Amino acid sequence: MEQYIVSARKYRPATFDMVVGQRALTTTLLNAIRTGKLAHAYLFCGPRGVGKTTCARIFAKTINCQNLGANGEPCGVCESCRAFEEGRSMNIHELDAASNNSVDDIRELIDQVRIPPQIGRYKVFIIDEVHMLSQQAFNAFLKTLEEPPHYVIFILATTEKHKILPTILSRCQVYDFQRITIKSTVDHLKYVAEKEGYQVEDEALALIAQKADGGMRDALSIFDQMVSFTGGNVTYESTLQNLNILDSEYYFRIVDNMLNKDVESSLVLFNEVTERGFDGGNFIAGLASHFRNLLVSRDAKTLPLLEVSEAQQQRYHEQAMRCKPQFLYKAIKLCNDCDLGYRQSRNKRLQVELCLIQSTQSTDDDGAGAGLCPAKILKPIFKIQPQEKPAPAPKKEKSKPVTPHVTPAAEKPALRTLNLNSTSIRKKSENAPVAQEDDIQTDTQSEVAENGQLELDALILAWQQFANRLPKAEVTTAQRMRTITPQLIDQHHFSVTVNNPLIEKDLTKLRPKIESYIKHQCHTQVSMEIHVAPPEVAIKTYSKPDQFKLALQDSSAFRILHELFSLELA
Ligand SMILES: [Zn+2]
Repeated sequence: MEQYIVSARKYRPATFDMVVGQRALTTTLLNAIRTGKLAHAYLFCGPRGVGKTTCARIFAKTINCQNLGANGEPCGVCESCRAFEEGRSMNIHELDAASNNSVDDIRELIDQVRIPPQIGRYKVFIIDEVHMLSQQAFNAFLKTLEEPPHYVIFILATTEKHKILPTILSRCQVYDFQRITIKSTVDHLKYVAEKEGYQVEDEALALIAQKADGGMRDALSIFDQMVSFTGGNVTYESTLQNLNILDSEYYFRIVDNMLNKDVESSLVLFNEVTERGFDGGNFIAGLASHFRNLLVSRDAKTLPLLEVSEAQQQRYHEQAMRCKPQFLYKAIKLCNDCDLGYRQSRNKRLQVELCLIQSTQSTDDDGAGAGLCPAKILKPIFKIQPQEKPAPAPKKEKSKPVTPHVTPAAEKPALRTLNLNSTSIRKKSENAPVAQEDDIQTDTQSEVAENGQLELDALILAWQQFANRLPKAEVTTAQRMRTITPQLIDQHHFSVTVNNPLIEKDLTKLRPKIESYIKHQCHTQVSMEIHVAPPEVAIKTYSKPDQFKLALQDSSAFRILHELFSLELA
């Protein structure tokens, strides 16, 4: 029977070219080797499992290869290379400073330094976790580090660069290793899975990469674990279960609930999370990350910061477009505060619940403070007692004075059954009549959401979003659109008033796109009317090109001049 080798070892890169996610750094090292410009001490910094020791070993192997390839990579067949690959090379010494940090350990190492290599040109000393060396060990080491024999190269590695003494730092060439991106990790895991003939789902690999947090070694060992759990068929579901990862699905639901002002469902959902054994602190940290992901997925510029699969990206973007930026700022701040307070709190659960309530209540706050100082005021949530019968809320509820900020949740029975149907995620207008809110909480909820009607704030939001998403070439149209506020005509019609026929022409050209975008964002059929304001209403802010075009349109004399002299706007 073939011996089982863990993937992290089996797929440990043998050349710089095979190192995942550190391209810039490996290129620099290769160039240094190719041009023979070797320093006598290197410091490799970076998180665990990103390839520091691996690169140190490849480096040692490469500079000792007797037959370097044209690309600067080791040949893999010469005596030195084979010695390295079989783990019997005398030219590489590894010291784990985490467990060997005494002066004696360093003295032993210094003794080794004195003996020149028998085969090959360099002896390479790798000191892992070098920040763990004791003060005395550091001192004993310093002199050797400063003036080693010409055949010695030190490679120091650390996860905690800030703990390295300046005296050491100044004697080393420093290389900073990057966390490996989720995408690079997923690609590599896919490669391994293909080689091994495993069935894997991309989403499952993304989960593993997420859990490994930028470390390839961790990713590979989690991957091995998953393969043995699942017998080589790694699905998203099985990965979630086995890794005990809180599905991002929960966060999507929580935010949908918030947008629906449905505090109760969020509290029930949070209860489900804790019952499944997840810690509230992790939950809040995850929720904060979710909000952060929503924030960066709003804009094409920040989209690359979102490290998820493409399908997930679309999902984040879709939810993000339904959130006001102010809400996201506040929610992130609230989650962060909760995270900070969580450890000290005596009633941890309440901390999280408060955070959920406050976040829900900030969904329609707009502006003031913009997240710097979210109001810590709790608005009433539960007004009426839980009731079993499906009848709508009592009449007198409706007659109660309702401020625009009172959440619709206030009108709902507190112990409603949990509605996890994600079609019920439409934003509601702040000033929608109370009666309508009552309608929404009945069983026709999802129907209402699907055949929704146009609401002003959602319309304005979608309008502005459309303007923001216009390509660069249409920057003038985008600017104009931002100054226009669409008006509701009825549930499926809205109008915009523009200053001149040119804008009207531009917008008419865009009409199908605008209507389709708003239809998609507001989940309802819409049609747009464009009106040109009468001259006295028009705000005279024409740009130079507009003035030029208008003059051409309005004045026949100008037109003749234009044609005669081929006038163009300078
Ligand atoms: Zn070789």
